[in-house]
Amino acid sequence: MLAEAARNLDVQVICAGRRGDCASQVAEVHTVDLEDPSAVRDFAAQVDAVTIESENIEAAVLSSLTLYPNAQAIAIAQDRLLEKEYLRIRGIATAPYGSVDSLRDLHNALDTIGAPSILKTRRLGYDGRGQVRLTHVDEASAAWAHTGGAPCILEGMVRFDREVSLIAARNRRGHIVFYPLTENIHRDGILRTSIAPFDNPSLQSQAEAYLRTLLEALDYIGVLAVEFFVEGDRLIANEMAPRVHNSGHWTIEGSDTSQFGNCLRAILDLDLGSTLSRPTVMLNCIGAMPPEPETAAFPMLFRHDYGKVPRAGRKVGHLTFPASETAAIAEWQRRLGQSS
Ligand code: AMP
Repeated sequence: MLAEAARNLDVQVICAGRRGDCASQVAEVHTVDLEDPSAVRDFAAQVDAVTIESENIEAAVLSSLTLYPNAQAIAIAQDRLLEKEYLRIRGIATAPYGSVDSLRDLHNALDTIGAPSILKTRRLGYDGRGQVRLTHVDEASAAWAHTGGAPCILEGMVRFDREVSLIAARNRRGHIVFYPLTENIHRDGILRTSIAPFDNPSLQSQAEAYLRTLLEALDYIGVLAVEFFVEGDRLIANEMAPRVHNSGHWTIEGSDTSQFGNCLRAILDLDLGSTLSRPTVMLNCIGAMPPEPETAAFPMLFRHDYGKVPRAGRKVGHLTFPASETAAIAEWQRRLGQSS
């Protein structure tokens, strides 16, 4: 999607990845071992600006590169413990948490946090992977065995009213733009539906203040997404993503400038584009894309097929609708198994 947005800017995108990456449908892909610092450095030397769209590359590999966002921001976002500590230090509320490196630590954390709670691996967890929910403190041993002894955090369960995210872009001159808050509906830890805007001026300004603090403290350049729980009239930060984010995919059709366009503009030292937005709904396609003739029957549906090999639980594409298309949205939520 970054490469597609680059067409408007007359910018050539080259991806460092693996042979057969779905990005090869739209961009040149160089096979690069992302665990080999010198291979990554050689790749970076061939281009003018480097960004990431997965935060799971070892910080040690990234630290010697000029990168947008910088390696420090990525290192914080890829480790749930560093991330929570960073948020807390900057006055941004999080769920109660404790660091867990052993079964004894888990028992100690459960003594203060209690159950229900969630044990999450510090690194490499996404879409609910690397997470175990504990409904009772008796489940500690089984939960610890499930994580395979990886460094973890225990998080208290937040009884949230809803989940939202805010996406912002900051360019090399320090200018910042925000998108409207987006409401996100997850099932089994996987994002299913995003609805924009979540229209709440007080929470919008609270979220913007939080992101501004983070962007400026980290001297962050690029797109940053922060997921929040809404509990009453306050926001509790869940996690930050140092990249374009699934809950911002609706901006391709729903905003004057998409998150992808603004990510490129931010890192290329261009002015950021308008984030004026129209009410829009995005539905993720998990496991498989619906057949094309079925989506083609809905004229206001925008189909994005990532060309990925179908696999249970894998995000293989998304559908976007103007929010006014309520009947079509309900129909597609049903077809994609998202109706409650
Ligand atoms: P994560 O990978 O941390 O974003 O978690 C995926 C989803 O699990 C979140 O979007 C929430 O729906 C749920 N979840 C994660 N952490 C918590 C928590 N501390 N309290 C309640 N729900 C949570």
